[in-house]
Amino acid sequence: MAAITGHIPVLLQERLPLRRTDLETFRSSLRQEVADGERELATAAAQDDDEIAHGAAADLYERELRLAEITAFKRDRYDVEAALGRMGAGTYGMCVDCGRPIPLDRLVARPQAARDVERERSVEREAAP
Ligand SMILES: [Zn+2]
Repeated sequence: MAAITGHIPVLLQERLPLRRTDLETFRSSLRQEVADGERELATAAAQDDDEIAHGAAADLYERELRLAEITAFKRDRYDVEAALGRMGAGTYGMCVDCGRPIPLDRLVARPQAARDVERERSVEREAAP
């Protein structure tokens, strides 16, 4: 029987070079999105005095949406960085809660996934207000 390196399933090991590149590309684009978004907000903030004076509710709403979007990008960026860390540690592809392999199709759809779907759902439920 062939030696198993760490706990990473063989199928996943073969896919690692691709996934690492995917994650690094994803991380770059998320960093860019966050930087662009924050720059836009800063520019908008510089014009806010005028806008608020004119009661520009639509602009404030727009700003809220943009802030929510940036927060989501930051969360994804954090998840992607954590996934790259797990790759370095040799634990990528394993559920961080139960240690079971995360199904490949899930990793393909969401390469930064830290948990299997069951655990992810219960974490989301716990986080919900
Ligand atoms: Zn799990």
